[in-house]
Amino acid sequence: MAEATPDRVLALFKESDALLQGHFKLTSGKHSEWYFEKIRLIEKPAALEKIVDLLVEKIRRESPDFDYVVSPAYGAIAIGVLAALKLGKRFAFTQRIEEKMAFRAGWSGLDGSRAVVVEDILTTGGSIHEVLACLKERGVAAAGIYVLVDRTAGSVLIEGRPVASLLALKVEAFEADVCPFCAKGIPLVKPGASVKKA
Ligand SMILES: [Zn+2]
Repeated sequence: MAEATPDRVLALFKESDALLQGHFKLTSGKHSEWYFEKIRLIEKPAALEKIVDLLVEKIRRESPDFDYVVSPAYGAIAIGVLAALKLGKRFAFTQRIEEKMAFRAGWSGLDGSRAVVVEDILTTGGSIHEVLACLKERGVAAAGIYVLVDRTAGSVLIEGRPVASLLALKVEAFEADVCPFCAKGIPLVKPGASVKKA
């Protein structure tokens, strides 16, 4: 079976238009070579499926024993459902209920089960910490933590370890006066509805 090489994963993300490479003005005002439009992962399910297939192979290899895939609402739900379907497991999601991340009432088999957490993009690890707290409250053992993209390239640790990812990509952001892409004269793009020069 084909190993999920970083090049293959990168190509699939570019195919989905979720990962753009160029010279972008981020909402912080800083400039970056990379821009994630993660909503596009879900917008193109056929492209997402190819990425999830690689994730599923990784989960099968590394975390064979669990009952649920659990994802935080809303962005990761489609990813988690698709992974659970392919893995033949159950799926559940956490959501904000009065600001606090929680499982709503109704999930029937969670208590005392084992779960892998699936999230789309790791930036700070905040939502994954919140999901782990939800699992703990329900007595669910965390059997693995997976993200499609680790934007910190392994520098955010959760429970003392880097999170398993398909793509570990250090996204550096530069002030305009030290931006290497400005220095090269590459046109700056402000991501939005359409790709235009800023
Ligand atoms: Zn720049």
